[in-house]
Amino acid sequence: MMRAYPRIAIAGFQHETNCFGTTKAGLTEFEMADSWPAMLQGEEVITETRGMNLPIAGFANAAKEAGMELVPILWCAAEPSAHVTDHAFDAICGKILDGLGAAWPVDGIFLDLHGAMVTESHADGEGELLRRLRAWAGPELPILVSLDLHANISEDLVDLADYIAIYRTYPHLDMAETGERCVPVLQHLLAGERLHKVFRQMDYLIPLHAQYTSATPGRDLYAVLPRLEEAGVLADIALGFTAADLPDTRPSCVAYARTAVAAAQAADHIASLFARLEAQSAHPMLSPEQAAKIACQPRAAMPVVLADVQDNPGAGGTSDTTGLLAALADAGAQNVLMGLFHDPETAAAARKAGQGGLFRTALGGRSGVAGDKPFEANFEVLALGDGICRYSGEMYGGGVAALGPTAALRLTGAEADISLVVTSIRNQCLDLAHFTHIGLKPETFDTICVKSTAHFRAAFEPIASAVYPVAAPGVFPCDLGRFPYKNLHPDVRTAPAKG
Ligand SMILES: [Zn+2]
Repeated sequence: MMRAYPRIAIAGFQHETNCFGTTKAGLTEFEMADSWPAMLQGEEVITETRGMNLPIAGFANAAKEAGMELVPILWCAAEPSAHVTDHAFDAICGKILDGLGAAWPVDGIFLDLHGAMVTESHADGEGELLRRLRAWAGPELPILVSLDLHANISEDLVDLADYIAIYRTYPHLDMAETGERCVPVLQHLLAGERLHKVFRQMDYLIPLHAQYTSATPGRDLYAVLPRLEEAGVLADIALGFTAADLPDTRPSCVAYARTAVAAAQAADHIASLFARLEAQSAHPMLSPEQAAKIACQPRAAMPVVLADVQDNPGAGGTSDTTGLLAALADAGAQNVLMGLFHDPETAAAARKAGQGGLFRTALGGRSGVAGDKPFEANFEVLALGDGICRYSGEMYGGGVAALGPTAALRLTGAEADISLVVTSIRNQCLDLAHFTHIGLKPETFDTICVKSTAHFRAAFEPIASAVYPVAAPGVFPCDLGRFPYKNLHPDVRTAPAKG
């Protein structure tokens, strides 16, 4: 019997795990603020995310409007990195289960998850969380989940969840909307209706820099979902996260419909579209030297953006590799802006030198990646900041990034003219505010280099005359043929099939 005001427990636990990364995510990383808020508990889950582009915020808003009573438990995320420690995973799962116990009885659960979480002991972090929740709550309680477009979805997760909604844009502009989409489905399930589900996994990987959804294959794949919805099938697509060395590392789709046949037909249609688009999943990248040549060409109007796609902290990169910087310096490139370098020691040295001060440092280069080394040079301190950065772009607008003590520096005593931003907390450079908050105006530079794979596109494409992905050293290779995979499913290809 459905209550007049159904009680719904909500929680969030997000991590995108780069199995080739060098630093793990412990409890501290989930408790601290970075590009997303610090760990939130109880009512804070709603009050501190209100209006933000987050699934839990979108779900909470729409669920309240639909007359549901919400019981917020916990929301946390850590910047992408190597594995989540067992200690952190068990502690956070324990908090969610304890919260559920205190909230009991509830009529349903909504979870804001990523879908590519790997822990020290569990290859399928989200699947393990769902197993623990199901064991506690029983098989009947509706559990709805929102996932990131970069999820590596397992069959277990699809079995354990009643419904999975996935972001449909990269850059992720629809995170809140994805949470919102779960509300009518939950109402449907609470009314006692059921949905048949079908899950399909694809047989080739798409490199991250080729996954942005304003170009093919993403654009063509996602265009099919509204059409399926008109035909009564709720389907979603995950493009996968290629830095996980697992059998479930691959794109996939889920389809939900009133009949098993309709769900299967929709999933087959999506799978055939994937097969047709395989050849278009390879997008070219420049070498750092080729990129430096472009940076040295005369610029008429808007800046060129060079994306250091393999050192994206949003994919578990260290955000401190120096390959592109060194190539630009060697080529004598002028009027260049770069960010964000994660180097707390250099940020502290800049603070000691003071605004306008000069100092020598060995910047970054601690990734451990072959061919990467610190960049030793003299710098002038242009500006110093506390790293509290209010996002101005569409993706995170309304939110605040914590960059830690931050410095804007300019290379001195060199032929090249390069300015760069150094932070104390790893953050992906995806918003103009990452530069403007410390007094730098990106549009006045000839070349802008961002340590980001695709999220930067939402904010930087409008001010760019061209965008080029660059393959400089980093712990997130986009040239998948060079990845040391050992555990992919034998059917999965890392480069488009020939012919
Ligand atoms: Zn993502």
